[in-house]
Amino acid sequence: MAEDCIFCKIAAGELPSETVQEDEYTVAFMDINPWTRGHALVIPRNHSRNLYEVGEEDLRHTAAAAQRLALRMRQRLGCDGLNLLNATEPAAWQTVFHFHVHVIPRYADDPLQLPVRPRQAEQDELAQVAAELRGG
Ligand code: AMP
Ligand code: ZN
Repeated sequence: MAEDCIFCKIAAGELPSETVQEDEYTVAFMDINPWTRGHALVIPRNHSRNLYEVGEEDLRHTAAAAQRLALRMRQRLGCDGLNLLNATEPAAWQTVFHFHVHVIPRYADDPLQLPVRPRQAEQDELAQVAAELRGG
């Protein structure tokens, strides 16, 4: 447990939360600023800063818990779909520095919109970045 980490405190029951699902490795609870009805967060009980640092086992358990929660949302809330979202580092909107996955139920008539308008890339642009990623 990391000192002054609000999600560690939620996992330990030291801060209140609307917990909806938990197991030995993970806890899922309602986001206090929901984007849609039912927006929840899934965290591993072990502290890590974000996707760069989370252990592979914790990542696996978190992904499996997110899937279980997604199925429960479909069944209990009747959502029409959902988004899984992770923010890693402030540049990517991370504000709480304990690894977590947002599970956001989506409804056909909800007001959320894509935050970007993707544009088609030039072929050499894709080849260049792919080469950087492959390295060598
Ligand atoms: P992120 O920007 O991915 O780091 O998201 C952090 C999320 O945690 C935000 O959506 C907040 O609304 C949510 N949050 C912050 N504090 C709490 C809390 N005490 N209980 C539930 N959700 C929280
Ligand atoms: Zn923590």
